[in-house]
Order: sequence, then C-alpha cells, then structure tokens
Amino acid sequence: MEVRAGLLVEGTDGLTVGSVTVDDPAPHEVLVRTAACGLCRSDLHGLEGTLRPPLPSVLGHEASGIVEAVGSAVSGFAPGDHVVACISRFCGACPACARHETWLCQRRDQPPLSRPESSPPRLTHDGLPADPFLGVGGLAEAFLVHEHSLVRVSKDVPLDIAALLGCGVLTGYGTVVNRARVRPGESVVVVGCGGVGLSAIQAAALAGASPIIAVDLHDHALALASELGATVTINASSDNPVKMVRGLTAGGADHAIEAIGLPGTMEDVVDMIRPGGTAYLIGIAPIPSTMELSAFRLVWFNRGVQGVLMGANHFRRDIPELVDLYLAGRLDLDRLLTDRIPLDQASAGFDAMRSGSLGRSAVVFS
Ligand SMILES: [Zn+2]
Ligand SMILES: [Zn+2]
Repeated sequence: MEVRAGLLVEGTDGLTVGSVTVDDPAPHEVLVRTAACGLCRSDLHGLEGTLRPPLPSVLGHEASGIVEAVGSAVSGFAPGDHVVACISRFCGACPACARHETWLCQRRDQPPLSRPESSPPRLTHDGLPADPFLGVGGLAEAFLVHEHSLVRVSKDVPLDIAALLGCGVLTGYGTVVNRARVRPGESVVVVGCGGVGLSAIQAAALAGASPIIAVDLHDHALALASELGATVTINASSDNPVKMVRGLTAGGADHAIEAIGLPGTMEDVVDMIRPGGTAYLIGIAPIPSTMELSAFRLVWFNRGVQGVLMGANHFRRDIPELVDLYLAGRLDLDRLLTDRIPLDQASAGFDAMRSGSLGRSAVVFS
C-alpha cells in the first residue's frame, strides 16, 4: 500500500512529506488506517537530532485509527476495530515482562516485535527500508505494527481525542496513578503544563491531591492548568518556583513531577520536595545531558528521585480506563487537543511546539 507520510530523510533538515510503501501484515501484525497522530515532544527530539532515528524514518507515535487488515495469527483485532497505538509494546516473555513491568520490555526492538532482518521491511521509502519512529511511525495515512503495540477502544470516543491517550496523556496520568500513587490530601507539583503535565494535573485532581501546584513560563498554559484542576499556579518567568513551592507546602511537596525534560527543571523539582518526598522525572531529556544533585541533601532529607518511562503503563488496562473517565466527563481531553491540522502543516505544528504553544496538536487524516 502506498501512503503519504511525514518523513525524516538523509540530507534534509526538518520534515518531508513523501510517499511510503507499507507491506502486508506478517502473522502477528496489524495494518491500521490512521485517523489522527498527536505531535509529541519526542517527535521534536527526532526532528532536532537529540533522539535521531535511523533514516529514512516515518515520524509520529501518538496515533489512533481503524484496523484495515490483520495478520494470519492475530486473534485480538479485526478489521473495523478502533485502536490506539502505544510505543510500550511488550513481548510477554523477557525478564521485565515476567516482572509485570511490560513498559520496560527488553525485547521491544527485537523480533517478533520488530521484523527480523531476513524479512522484507514493514516500510520502504524510495526503495530504502524506512524506520517507524519509536516502533509506530504514526504520522502517515497508515501504519503497520505488531499486535502488542495496540489496544482496542470504544467507538464512542472520537479517534482524534483517542490518539492523545497513546503517549502524552498516558505518561502524565500513569505517573500519578501507577507510580506516585497519590493519596487524597497529598501535595503535588507539576512543572511544565503541556499535554503531559496537564494530564498529570488532571490525574492529581482525580486522586484528591491538595494543593495541586502548576509551574510554567506561559500564563495561557497556567490558565488552562487551573481549569483542569491546578489549585495554585506559578509563572517561573517572574517568580522563583522552588521558593514558592516550599512556602506553599510548609517545606516541600509530597510529589513533584518534571514534565518537560530539561536538566535545570529536573534539579528544581528535587529541591521542591519535602524530606522523604519523591521527585518524578518524566520528560525526555536530550541524550547527552546530565543533572547535578546535592549528595548531602539527597541523604539528609531522604529524597527520592524516580525516573518514570511512559507513566509505568499497562496500556491495555490504562487506555480503556482513560476512555471510561473521558466518556463519564471526569477527564477533559477536549481542551487538551487544541489544534487539528493536515499532514502538510505538521512542520508548522512542530514550530508552534517550540514556541510554547498551548495543549496538543494532532495531525488528522481524512
Ligand atoms: Zn518483554
Ligand atoms: Zn510521545
């Protein structure tokens, strides 16, 4: 099948819209006609070279769609199913999967989750094998993945909304629910109010946290954070957020979440927690970056610093739960999805992300 796709290709900067050939599904693969693909900061890292995939690469990983065809051994999906993709594909057999930590699957990039080198590639561009970014490659009119990359969702949830559940929303919500296990009355700080941070704020509100403190550089992002559950907002361009958080929480928050991926703000969230509290680092930082921590204060104040990948998700459990919360009116995803754009404008969508745009943009395929 020939489809249009947003590509990274050798020798050009930025995103190229071009043609990609998608192979037929192998026995455990599912071909999905893409409905929408959210633009995520990790895609931007791919574009800017800090998470450089092998080229050519079909960008995008926060995707939803309708099953077009399934491989001969697939029993859990059928053509017509509405599905969401997640990069946390799992083999079910490695040590991480055996510990029920499927989001850490150690064979994510090995067969059968990817194709063996002896098989034809899933995607080709100009005769070359093309990499599906982070194993999905959802910024295309169709994508082909292993069945363990997908979850079926209710047809009651609009597919453009559902796309956001595959990465940004799952990461923010999962950190609060699966990892921090926030209890009623605990204090939560979220630094960075993009799609991930706003989802963490909504999960903290659902968990009964108080106060819920949102930190960002942009007043419009903080206004949205307030509408979605933040009880206090701090604009870090005019106030010192570490000082303010410590003042608002009598010495530090129970939980502080960094949802940007910058070493400087990662150091800040560690200084925002109370003795015995935990800082969660969930934004993806550039690969060569490092952060500085006070070795003394880490021990003296019994500080926890926890990296959390993809919200420590079991996406086949978590995404349907998120859909139920959305359909019950308890999780606002409509205001998270602020821009619906065609594939040709994806490049402009990434430019807007660089300048601190509000909420999430998604490329919508007709
Ligand atoms: Zn595994
Ligand atoms: Zn993502």
